[in-house]
Amino acid sequence: MPKLDKTSTEFREAGHRIVDWIADYLDDTDRYDVLSRANPGDIERQFAASPDERGKPYEALLEEFKSKLLPGITHWNHPAFFAYFSITGSQAGILAELLTAALNANGMLWKTSPSLTELETVTLRWLRNAMGLPQGLFGIINDTASINSFLALAAAREATGLNVRGEGLTGRNLPPLRVYCSDQAHSSIEKGALALGIGARGVVKIPSDEAFRMRVDALEEAIARDRAAGSLPVAISATVGTTSTASVDPLRRIGEIAAREKIWLHVDGAYGGSATIVPEFRWLWDGIEYADSIVVNPHKWLFTPIDCGVLYTRRPDVLRETFSLVPEYLKTTDSAEINYMDYGLQLGRRFRSLKLWMVMEHYGLERMREVIREHVRYAQRLSAELRKRDDIELVAPQSLSVVVFRKVVPGGEEACERENAALIERMNATGKLFVSHTKLRGKYAIRVAIGNGATEWRHVERVLECL
Ligand code: PLP
Repeated sequence: MPKLDKTSTEFREAGHRIVDWIADYLDDTDRYDVLSRANPGDIERQFAASPDERGKPYEALLEEFKSKLLPGITHWNHPAFFAYFSITGSQAGILAELLTAALNANGMLWKTSPSLTELETVTLRWLRNAMGLPQGLFGIINDTASINSFLALAAAREATGLNVRGEGLTGRNLPPLRVYCSDQAHSSIEKGALALGIGARGVVKIPSDEAFRMRVDALEEAIARDRAAGSLPVAISATVGTTSTASVDPLRRIGEIAAREKIWLHVDGAYGGSATIVPEFRWLWDGIEYADSIVVNPHKWLFTPIDCGVLYTRRPDVLRETFSLVPEYLKTTDSAEINYMDYGLQLGRRFRSLKLWMVMEHYGLERMREVIREHVRYAQRLSAELRKRDDIELVAPQSLSVVVFRKVVPGGEEACERENAALIERMNATGKLFVSHTKLRGKYAIRVAIGNGATEWRHVERVLECL
């Protein structure tokens, strides 16, 4: 009888070797250049036109992994990875991923693996309490904040009463739909609106203030103007920890407007939300009781390997009405309260809560808080050092674990941009660190985001050494 794996002998041997390789990798990630030096096509051309007809032993594949693929890896798990948002594939998370793959369970329905559904409920209750979020919020894990914000906006659209689910968007006379977010909101909000037929014109980018926070007066004006013109507000999306500067929108005041205007309030805490497990950062959620939906990414700053994005909502009924569709072959007779497939687009669902559980239980909230506190201290120290230099301008107020700055040179904006872009190239070419850039009010700036569980001050100091 043909069988895919004849025995587990090879697996056992290779498995031990791979775990040893991972442990060595994690012990000394610093020996790798953070940013891959590969040129486009370098990786692809090493591979044959088709896979080996008769297969290869794991040993050969592990060698190929090291020689062919590692050079094309940018080391996100490197302690000096400061680009975009720094993340952590923690040891606890990696072990959980191994178990998840072994079970290969699919949590589409409660009965297709009760543990998948119930551990998701438990871990999200723990996380909700750890972040001090309101009791009673319903939580669900999906792959990313982008998908979770899309789901939330879809529910918001349904909550307007337009019955898009039943009637669709076309062939009837609908008012123009509007979603409000600041000019600093992540592109996922606009993408979600695009996918929902709200259109790019329907996304109203509210100007931000000098600290890159949404201007509440401008929000109020925009809503009034749109209502007067016959548009229908669908949602306001506030950000707690924006991508470029980690600025925090004035949630309470935005929440009051959302409540008064009866508009769905979505809160994008994909990055910043994680910090609220630390009591000193609870203020970030001031006004969160107004939120209809909230996204937080444990795969950003909670030491959980990518992917693990959480969506909380106080209106799970609306989310369910938006997405639930149960064909005969998925009907069940059990009394389970939650079948997570009812709350989103995906049917099949990985056991993502296992890694969140393993991370929270193994490290404990105390240690996780300490690491987050340390990251923020590093960012404060970095910005204090930068402030001492006459040739450096902090382009945004230092916030959470993000520092945004530029070198100022004579010759205006263009000269500054050239200088800082070249500086980033030089910094990243050292292989010792990886930083990325942003542009704020026309100023091209270097952006440092600290968030890897193995980062120490000596890694952050490399930024200063490159200047
Ligand atoms: N929201 C914010 C504020 C972000 O910074 C990001 C990514 O950096 C996202 C959403 C999108 O996250 P994801 O990659 O999980 O879709």
